[in-house]
Amino acid sequence: MAQLPGVGPGRARVLEAAGIHTAWDLLYYFPRRYLDRSTIVPMGELHRYAGLVVTVVGRVGSIATVRARRKRLVVTLRDQRWSMELVFFQGLHYWQSAFKEGEDVAVSGEVQLYGRRASMVHPDIDRLQDGETLAFINTGGIVPVYPSNAELEKVGLNRHGGFRKLIHAVLQRHLAGLREWYSPAVLKSETLLPLHDAIEIIHGPPDTDRLNAAKERLIFDEFFILSLQLALRKRMQAGAVPGIAFTAESPTARDLVHRLPFELTAAQKRVLREIVGDMRRAQPMNRLLQGDVGSGKTVVALLAMLLAVDNGHQCALMVPTEILAEQHFRTITGLVDDLSIRVELLTGQQSAGQKQQLGAAIANGDVHVVVGTHALIQEAVQFHRLGLVVIDEQHRFGVMQRADLRGKATAPDVLVMTATPIPRTLSMTLYGDLDVSVIDELPANRKQVKTAIRFDEDLGGVHSFVRDEIAAGNQAYIVFPLVSESEKLDLKAATEEYETLRASVFPDLRLGLLHGRMKPEEKDAIMTAFKKRQIDILVSTTVIEVGVDVPDATVMVIEHAERFGLAQLHQLRGRVGRSDKQAYCILVTSKRLYFAGKARTTEEQKEISDLRRRLDTMRDSTDGFRIAEVDMEIRGPGDLWGTQQSGYPAFRIANLLEHGHILQRARDRAFTIIEEDPQLRSPEHSGIREVLGPRIREQLGLSTIS
Ligand code: ADP
Ligand code: MG
Repeated sequence: MAQLPGVGPGRARVLEAAGIHTAWDLLYYFPRRYLDRSTIVPMGELHRYAGLVVTVVGRVGSIATVRARRKRLVVTLRDQRWSMELVFFQGLHYWQSAFKEGEDVAVSGEVQLYGRRASMVHPDIDRLQDGETLAFINTGGIVPVYPSNAELEKVGLNRHGGFRKLIHAVLQRHLAGLREWYSPAVLKSETLLPLHDAIEIIHGPPDTDRLNAAKERLIFDEFFILSLQLALRKRMQAGAVPGIAFTAESPTARDLVHRLPFELTAAQKRVLREIVGDMRRAQPMNRLLQGDVGSGKTVVALLAMLLAVDNGHQCALMVPTEILAEQHFRTITGLVDDLSIRVELLTGQQSAGQKQQLGAAIANGDVHVVVGTHALIQEAVQFHRLGLVVIDEQHRFGVMQRADLRGKATAPDVLVMTATPIPRTLSMTLYGDLDVSVIDELPANRKQVKTAIRFDEDLGGVHSFVRDEIAAGNQAYIVFPLVSESEKLDLKAATEEYETLRASVFPDLRLGLLHGRMKPEEKDAIMTAFKKRQIDILVSTTVIEVGVDVPDATVMVIEHAERFGLAQLHQLRGRVGRSDKQAYCILVTSKRLYFAGKARTTEEQKEISDLRRRLDTMRDSTDGFRIAEVDMEIRGPGDLWGTQQSGYPAFRIANLLEHGHILQRARDRAFTIIEEDPQLRSPEHSGIREVLGPRIREQLGLSTIS
């Protein structure tokens, strides 16, 4: 790093801390955005842009603290004729000293109008170097704005001049040495800019068209590199260890199908055919089964497991929580009761003695199906002949864990099930090495859950509705977001709320409480009591979120619904409507929040419009895929499954929401290349092998490409 022009030890240290270690890292340190004439609005025209995000250029005038209802800093910005205000509510000291009178700045933010007076609250600020203002205003040039932070600014690497100078120097020295990895044929048929041009242009675009072409090339690259890894991983898994070629004949499965109290849906039959097709093949199965809540994935998995058992193999079913493990265990034992299949439950709570006994029975093959949580991978469970691994509710498990269980045996078939529909683009990246089956149909007897939004002041009505449902022989959930009171968020804690509900609202009914801090035995006891109808209303935190199945529960009341993400709300709603009874989901929130009564800053406004969009989406749609897409739009794909989703690839420039079409192309290209030339031996692929190979190998722990 220190060999770079303009980088001494001080700068090197700060750059390293920011994750920039090499010249290559700097070439790939892309501008966060650009200032160009096409996005700049003259101050005099701001009144036409109310509510929109724009960039304005001007000179700093007065800087003043105003003690209004809420203390704020007001900075006046002027051009030749007009002026506007920049308003800051937080960090007043910082901002006060950040501005200098007479300095030229570009500000970007949402335009707010009071009469004809325009203002922006907490805008993005870009200080302009001398002459730069003129450069992009008068010549139509495009100025890159680099991401920076306080540390980087201290060593002169500010968003503009500092980074531009450094990157300019790096380009001069290293650009010529960049090696293209696509063959000319690929560049041509994908109409991609050469790498050299793309990198040069992204740092100093002559015009918007060229900039877009450069971005497209670099976005394509990100998707291509990821897809190449996925294609290689898929290839490795398919080729490395031979899998088991099961025979499709399974008297036990056939027997079960006949005894089921329902007919399998067409979608269930179709995915079962796909799964059995994989199982018959000698290559290990690697399939994702997607299906909305209640679509009936469990019975599909069970039939596949019976097929494996009839072929003399064992199966493992892995789920994220103890409650779910126990539920699956009970469902399965109930269904296979007299089919002479031995099913066992393995959890973290069992005594050492129990575990040892169970371990021995698994190791000698007496146990056919093992249901468990992470304990299955964490403990040293040895299977006699593990043939099929089913992982339920996949998004709760990291990709790492997926690999872990696989390592247990030579090459069992793996079926991954997820209840949350995943937007296609996301599943192509997260599960891109899996084949995908989708159950896109709910059992015919299902009625759509009716969903309504209610406000805190309507709770009386909500409670009497719950009461009526219980009088009609049904059960209800009332869900709260947290267990203990949080001062900041002013949330009603489930425990306290439970006491109130029991003592004053439903004193004559049987209530139960379920929350995450309870011991597993306690949870199990409560859940069992609810299932056995010894409890009318289950007050709960989100622990009931995934997979829990109580057919008579017809009402789901979610309090502080605004605190939940869409995926979570959808999961919760999926707990009701699991039989032929009409079910209801009531989202309770505060009127003030819903109608944006309290938004002050732009962030607050966005937050509130997001929460309203979440609730409205829930009310208006029961289509899991639609809900997942809205969720991805609101939260961005990276956050979609929360921090637990460690396997999510970080993109520098690509964005799954906007660039799905490029993803598809890059993926097709990568998979085609690996299919035709898995070792990347042909001269056409030498660039990919030599430039991308080492990077990919590092990330995959691969040895197949040499
Ligand atoms: P999920 O896909 O959410 O895991 P489950 O497998 O738990 O759904 O199934 C939900 C409920 O629907 C269970 O009670 C199950 O017995 C029932 N079920 C499954 N398939 C059918 C079907 N084809 N017809 C009617 N009910 C079904
Ligand atoms: Mg399930």
